[in-house]
Amino acid sequence: MNTLPHDKIETSKENSMTESLKFLSGGGEMGALMRAYNWQSSLIGRADKWPQSLLTTLGILLNSKFPMFLFWGSQHVCFYNDAYRPSLGNEGKHPSMLGMKGEEAWPEIWHIIKPLINQVLTDGEATWSEDQLIPIYRNAKIEDVYWTFSYSPVKDESGLPVGVFVACTETTEKVNNFHKIAESNNQLEFAIEATELGTWDYNPLTNKFTGNTRFKDWFGLPHGEEIDLSIGMNVIAENDRNLVAQAFQRTMQYESGGLYDIEYSTIHPVTKQERIVRAKGRAWFGEDKTAYRFNGTLQDITEQASARKEIEASEAFNRTILENSPDCLKVLDREGRIQYINFNGLCQMEIDDFSTFKNKNWWTIWGSENEALVKASVDKALRGETAQFTALRLTAKGIPKWWDVVVSPIGKPGEPVQQIISVSRDVTEKKKSEEAIEKMAAHLKHATDSAGVGTWSLNLQTQKLEWSFLHKKMWGYDEHRNDLTYEDWHKLILPADKELAFKRVEDARINHSFYEVEYRINKADDNVIRSIRSVGKYYYNDKGQAETLTGISVDITEQKQAEEKIKESEERFRSLAETLPHLVWMTDEKGKYEYASSQWEKYSGLDPLKEETWQQLIYPDDMQTMMVTWEKSLITGIDYHAEARLKNKQGEYLWHIVHGIAIKSKDDKIVKWIGTFTNIHDQKIKEEKKDEFISIASHELKTPLTIAKTYIQLLLQTFEESGKEKKREMIYATKANASIDRLNRLISELLDVSKIQSGNLPLHITSFNFDEMFIDTIENLQHTFPKHSIIHSGETKKQVSGDKERLQQVIINLINNATKYSPNADKIFVHISDCENGEIKVEIKDSGIGISKNDLGKIFERYYRVENMTGQFQGLGIGLFISSEIIRRHNGKLWAESELGAGSTFYFTLPC
Ligand code: ADP
Repeated sequence: MNTLPHDKIETSKENSMTESLKFLSGGGEMGALMRAYNWQSSLIGRADKWPQSLLTTLGILLNSKFPMFLFWGSQHVCFYNDAYRPSLGNEGKHPSMLGMKGEEAWPEIWHIIKPLINQVLTDGEATWSEDQLIPIYRNAKIEDVYWTFSYSPVKDESGLPVGVFVACTETTEKVNNFHKIAESNNQLEFAIEATELGTWDYNPLTNKFTGNTRFKDWFGLPHGEEIDLSIGMNVIAENDRNLVAQAFQRTMQYESGGLYDIEYSTIHPVTKQERIVRAKGRAWFGEDKTAYRFNGTLQDITEQASARKEIEASEAFNRTILENSPDCLKVLDREGRIQYINFNGLCQMEIDDFSTFKNKNWWTIWGSENEALVKASVDKALRGETAQFTALRLTAKGIPKWWDVVVSPIGKPGEPVQQIISVSRDVTEKKKSEEAIEKMAAHLKHATDSAGVGTWSLNLQTQKLEWSFLHKKMWGYDEHRNDLTYEDWHKLILPADKELAFKRVEDARINHSFYEVEYRINKADDNVIRSIRSVGKYYYNDKGQAETLTGISVDITEQKQAEEKIKESEERFRSLAETLPHLVWMTDEKGKYEYASSQWEKYSGLDPLKEETWQQLIYPDDMQTMMVTWEKSLITGIDYHAEARLKNKQGEYLWHIVHGIAIKSKDDKIVKWIGTFTNIHDQKIKEEKKDEFISIASHELKTPLTIAKTYIQLLLQTFEESGKEKKREMIYATKANASIDRLNRLISELLDVSKIQSGNLPLHITSFNFDEMFIDTIENLQHTFPKHSIIHSGETKKQVSGDKERLQQVIINLINNATKYSPNADKIFVHISDCENGEIKVEIKDSGIGISKNDLGKIFERYYRVENMTGQFQGLGIGLFISSEIIRRHNGKLWAESELGAGSTFYFTLPC
């Protein structure tokens, strides 16, 4: 307890005083002080004389827990309670202020409070001041103290104001806090300003938001108004809008934690300026876990974002370049350890697992032969220089490869090298081809010598000539001579050939092309004249000047002589051809027209030297067959046979037979075709007439035959029905029936021939199962051949489209022939090969009499039969003719392989 000064402590008459201040009991420290106070010598005198109003007021004051103060009387004597006491601080007015004159107690603020006191005392009205700064002396100094207080009058019994009652609270702390808040608000605003942030504040209850000026400017929204959320949303770029809305909704959920951080683009509604922003915010939740507020900031990151995008793009670009480079790229650190290998590098070096290579010293992978070299290149790169190697060998997984390598530093010039890059290019193929070329050059040299080809090279500067051994020999020089010059070359050329040869060589120099010349030389050793063919070319330096002339020479004397001979014999042939009545022609091995005798002109009136002449002469319908046969002959070398109608001067088409034969060289190569057109018109007309006759006759013959057949059938039936044993009659009738069948078939065949002749053999095309048809046919046939068994193999499983009956006819025909012409054999082999190269192949093989080479080409001709056989075997020589026509009409081929006495095999193919 603070103590009052001695003079103010009541010592005498203690009892009576104490008695009169009883009402002050329970007044705490201040109550005790007031009781102990020596009021007698005070400004307001003995306490037992105090008016009731003062005692009542003091009673209220001392019993209140609110800070209170009282100015009493004209001297404004000061009273205060315990609650007021802390406001006076530690070293200051307490407790001396008690009972003190107002003016003396509050000298520092008397000028402020005196007018208030006066106002209350004169007007009798209470006053109210809030958070008023009233600095007071306490804690041994003047302090800024804030107060909220009311001054009210205390009236005496007569109703006059005699004191001023002050109820007050010190609000210094509150005000200070308020100031602090204001300050920090200022700071925040400053920060927001300085960082150029936009701020926004959304009220979930109204679904509206506000924002600072910057925010509103960015969003193109009116200042100072609350805005509907949807309006703000519309400013967000369409692509981002959904995402933002979702994030917004998510943040508003209590479970989300309420934090919001998102990047999006906005488009200003008026200026259309695009801005990339980062919004950060926080939702605030009430006790019911619903958000009552959601606010935050907005940062313009347009530049950052585009810079970031640029960096990302350039990094991606670099990565793409590295990854897509066809070379093997490795990045090494300063210690030369591998940090990275691009994809192609991994592939080319056969690396399956990069982790085994990572951090390996790069030079160690090059093997002992290159290690030192490669290590030195890394050191060089560390010094900022680039090193290069060509064709370094590296064996990866046992496969040797060659690499061109460049090792360079990475880093800014002038600064220490950060990393090293090695670019290796796989040059294995190049290396191999170089080796192959070297080898080939060696072979070539050998080959040219042994092939009789001499090689040479002339240095145009020194005129020095390098000749291969063979070349020297060709010219009749000693093969060991090394001093031969240009002069030694051209002095041997015959003067008559020189000019042309030199002109060709000069043309080649100007045109940068190859030249080929032929000339004769007078050999140096024996003066024999030889023909030479030279092929050569100039080689030029960077300035385009010719430096060397290189080429090969071949001695063509023998060839020339042979050509001369051919020329001579051709001339002889021509003069002979001119004397013949035939139209004679000659082509080269490829069928290119070379010669036609003058008979052509006599016959057709056209110039035979023109290639198109003969084509103009052929009757169009005959052209295709002719061409097909001619092309077949060109390929196979088989003699060429055809018939065609040829137009004469008068415009009449006359039948000719064409024959061509291949002229072959010693080594069996076709060199020419020589042939003739022979007029067979009269003969042909006769045949046609015969065919016409046959056509009519066959019809006439078939009618009585049909009747005869009917009667024989009736006869057979009658025998059967009579039930009597009439074996002999039955046999006769059966034989007659077979003969009629055979006759019928022959007539049909003749009819077919005449149809073919008139180009009128109709086909009834259907699609059918070839195997089934084939087996049916041979099974039926088998019954008619008791002696031969038909052995069948292979199948095609293919549907074939064609005239089924006509194809059956071909098979019957070929099998019939096979049995007929192999009387001593008992087996016929038939085989179907499945569809291959677009063809089904059928093969019918007998082991009969065979056919001679000479006849083999002719058996498919009409009425052709092998001469000496005719007596022995029945036949008309038309079966194969009809068969080949049927197969041809099906776009297939029919042919035979045979040798006299060694059986025959007939083949036909059909498209599949
Ligand atoms: P042909 O009615 O004479 O048999 P083809 O046109 O069927 O008439 O046959 C023509 C000729 O081909 C026959 O006369 C025969 O000389 C010869 N020929 C046909 N097939 C065979 C064969 N399988 N073996 C030997 N020669 C045959």
